Amino acid sequence: MLRLAIQKSGRLSEDSLKLIRECGISFITSSLKLKTESTNFPLEILYLRDDDIPGYVADGVADIGIVGQNVLVEEGKQALTVEKLGFSKCRLSLAVPKSDQYESVQDLNGKNIATSYPNLLQAYLNEQGVEAHIHTISGSVEIAPSIGLAEAICDIVSSGSTLISNGLKEVERVFKSEAVLIANDTLSEEKRRILDKLLFRIQAVQRAQK
Ligand code: ATP
Ligand code: ZN
Repeated sequence: MLRLAIQKSGRLSEDSLKLIRECGISFITSSLKLKTESTNFPLEILYLRDDDIPGYVADGVADIGIVGQNVLVEEGKQALTVEKLGFSKCRLSLAVPKSDQYESVQDLNGKNIATSYPNLLQAYLNEQGVEAHIHTISGSVEIAPSIGLAEAICDIVSSGSTLISNGLKEVERVFKSEAVLIANDTLSEEKRRILDKLLFRIQAVQRAQK
């Protein structure tokens, strides 16, 4: 039996479950349960917070998982990736107040930037040769400029409407993300065989959608 970790409730949940179902794998879901077993495939599904998924897969608590590249790379676990899944596409962007004069990323030198992704942001700033102060906060990043915590933010964007409603404008794209399938790198031969079967089905689903 292979253990798959997916997000319990959030922006990855619905498409993760849909993909598994499209692979012909049946299971019963209940919003109260933390795990469920498939009735027709050797798969057990664990429902977790997305941030916990890379660590659990790296430690072998789960064998495989579905998570956004933003969380995976932030945690330094990109080596676990086995397949891009094409959903939950979003980007990590820098944004500043709409009324600010902004010419280039060099304008951020010496500024305070609030983010939940300090590692991805630091890597980007290093690449650009910018020295800024990163303030790591776990949520509501987009209000940081209006409460005086930071002059800029670095946050996940898809349509950009959250930025606009907080009086911000997107100025740089830091990282592009989509959902990926990840796997523990020391799976038993039996688990590896189940994963190969699952991957074969995922690839067939993806081909059919093209
Ligand atoms: P959890 O409670 O599990 O920690 P969360 O609040 O951290 O959830 P979500 O907002 O549900 O996370 O986002 C989960 C993932 O979905 C993100 O890490 C990102 O990869 C992707 N994502 C985030 N925002 C969007 C968006 N607006 N459009 C598409 N995908 C997104
Ligand atoms: Zn999360």
